[in-house]
Amino acid sequence: MAKIILNKSNYFHNLKIISEQAGSIEKVAVVLKDNAYGHGLVEISSMAKEFGIKNAVVRTVAEAKLIETFFDQILILADSKKKSYSHSFHIVINSLDDIAKLPKNTNVQLKVDTGMHRNGVSLKELEEAIHGIYEKKLNLTGVLTHYKSADELTCDFFWQRALFNQVKKEVMGICEKLFLPIPKFHSANSSALFRFKNFDEDLVRVGIAQYGYLETNTIFDNPKLKPVMSLWASKISTRTIKKNQKVGYGGKYLAKKDMKVSTYDVGYGDGFLRLNGETKYTTPKGYEILGRVSMDNISIDCEDDEVCIFNDVKKLAKIHNTISYEITTTLLPTIKKEIK
Ligand SMILES: *Cc1c(COP(=O)(O)O)cnc(C)c1O
Repeated sequence: MAKIILNKSNYFHNLKIISEQAGSIEKVAVVLKDNAYGHGLVEISSMAKEFGIKNAVVRTVAEAKLIETFFDQILILADSKKKSYSHSFHIVINSLDDIAKLPKNTNVQLKVDTGMHRNGVSLKELEEAIHGIYEKKLNLTGVLTHYKSADELTCDFFWQRALFNQVKKEVMGICEKLFLPIPKFHSANSSALFRFKNFDEDLVRVGIAQYGYLETNTIFDNPKLKPVMSLWASKISTRTIKKNQKVGYGGKYLAKKDMKVSTYDVGYGDGFLRLNGETKYTTPKGYEILGRVSMDNISIDCEDDEVCIFNDVKKLAKIHNTISYEITTTLLPTIKKEIK
């Protein structure tokens, strides 16, 4: 069976670098949405807990429930309609409308739109939002924003940061007038964290960096992270093909000599994006993937019982003209995980 191996020492290596950059382990919130970017929600949570991480971020209440016992606080990004919340759950308010939907005493964190124009209240709506939260008797535990291009060499990052500083001042003023405790402030994802010289926020929401990648422009002084996930497949069968015979759908691979070809049990049905036979891809051991990837099969010029398909997705991301996030996140949760 195909499987994903999670490399614990690489994961801890990344968490150590991240905690150092953040200033303390308490400030690190691991982003575990979408099955921990395909790595396995529960497996990553258990390793994060073992390392000493206290905070996590997910998309839904359902995800939060699965990992409730691993963390002190879980931030839920986009699920303001559910009713059953635990004390450790904090729901993100993405618009003024969300405030009315939440039951009394819910822990909430207010998202502010500082330029991404995706979610969050505007600066003009800040006062109305915090008064609404106060009147509805919700507990405001945090105020956050999200950068649109922290990974690119543009000045957008700096003006969003400046706007967020303004948000902090206004929020503190409003909270003081209402005798509300000052909430936590956080804005940084992985790439933003490594652009701060002296990180001074209360929390950092780290997704991709914990898994060993950063899509940040290489002009920045990026840390040496190590990929956590490798994908392995098992052999189904081996055959000998003659020179000029072709392999797979469309016969995209043409044998230049008589050769052995084996079929392995992984394909795009497992979420391993389809290689179309136009671009050459070789596995970490140097075996070539021959022709097109099928739904549940992949042909490789080797005879090993098990083969590592990738232990770093950067090359695949380039072939598919996408980002590392998409290559790992599309892998199905049903692929079994092993922690090594
Ligand atoms: C997904 C997400 C993150 C994590 O982003 P990375 O680039 O993977 O570190 C942080 N904050 C929010 C609001 C997100 O949606």
